[in-house]
Amino acid sequence: MTAVRAAAGIEGLLTVDLGAVAANWRTLAALHAGGAVAGVVKADGYGLGAVPVARALAAAGCRHFFVAHLAEGLALRAGLGEAPMVAVLNGFPPGADAGAGLVPVWNSLEDVAAHAGAPGILQLDTGMARLGVPPEAWAGLAGLRPLYVMTHLACADQPAHPLNGQQARRFAEARALLPGVAGSFAASSGMFLGAGFESDLARPGAALYGVNPTPGRPNPMRPVVTLTAPVLQIRDVPAGVSVGYAASWVAARASRVATVAAGYADGYLRSLSGKALASFQGQPVPLVGRVSMDLSTFDVTDVPGLRVGDHLTLIGEGCDVDAVAARAGTIGYEVLTSLGARYQRRYVAG
Ligand SMILES: *Cc1c(COP(=O)(O)O)cnc(C)c1O
Repeated sequence: MTAVRAAAGIEGLLTVDLGAVAANWRTLAALHAGGAVAGVVKADGYGLGAVPVARALAAAGCRHFFVAHLAEGLALRAGLGEAPMVAVLNGFPPGADAGAGLVPVWNSLEDVAAHAGAPGILQLDTGMARLGVPPEAWAGLAGLRPLYVMTHLACADQPAHPLNGQQARRFAEARALLPGVAGSFAASSGMFLGAGFESDLARPGAALYGVNPTPGRPNPMRPVVTLTAPVLQIRDVPAGVSVGYAASWVAARASRVATVAAGYADGYLRSLSGKALASFQGQPVPLVGRVSMDLSTFDVTDVPGLRVGDHLTLIGEGCDVDAVAARAGTIGYEVLTSLGARYQRRYVAG
């Protein structure tokens, strides 16, 4: 085995196309013309940077934002200024936003009582059994005046699932108990379920970031993320020689193997071991062996033009976020929110 050449001190490059984020928001806004469309930027904007993403959305016309945690809300308020609504899905104790004007989501009647007199968003459980006031307690809703009454769909990515219609009916019943209160219903996939799933405020997240909200059908969203990582070494591996931990891949032919600076510590999931497909100049490049913490190895025998220092595309053209997720046995959401802190990050306006 001959190490051809080594290059040190270079890391992966994560490019976030904020123009595509804005375009995706406009696509969703056109689809949901009867109501407003928020931007869900929890988990640091699904790993892509909550503040730059939210600023791009605000410039496109978005006036409502959702995060999950109080700390995320405080950071977003500092980055966005006073104007937009910033709501906190997991709620927070009264006064804990220290005057930042964050809107708590009330997930129980106890939350409602604790925040008496202050603005909030009331979440109802219509069939997900996760957060929100359950139907047994809806008798206690009469007279409440939240900013919005919201609920969340459990099966929106499966349009034929009977729970979708059931949740829509339960939500309509609950809204009848709160006349005049605005509603917030669909997230990304729910926005594609058609009539009956519209509301005064849709709450998409994943679709803004290019994840396909209509699995199994063509993706209506523009891709947002490109992840590339540099080739550190290229070596010749004779037939019969193994590569990487557990010797799980053995060269069946005389091979060229490229070692790339991205591993599971960077969110290049270990479950991609032996399964991922990267690309180089549009050509598919299979991952071989185990993904290790900082490195992954690819069979580049059929890519003779590849050189040390070139970047393989790990997420992007030919291997979009949904395709990577499918190969990892997970969903695009997890691929994005796993993206590590060691990449050089670049924001482009598209
Ligand atoms: C995460 C979340 C959203 C956004 O969901 P996507 O599927 O990413 O569009 C909306 N509402 C609630 C309550 C959420 O937890």
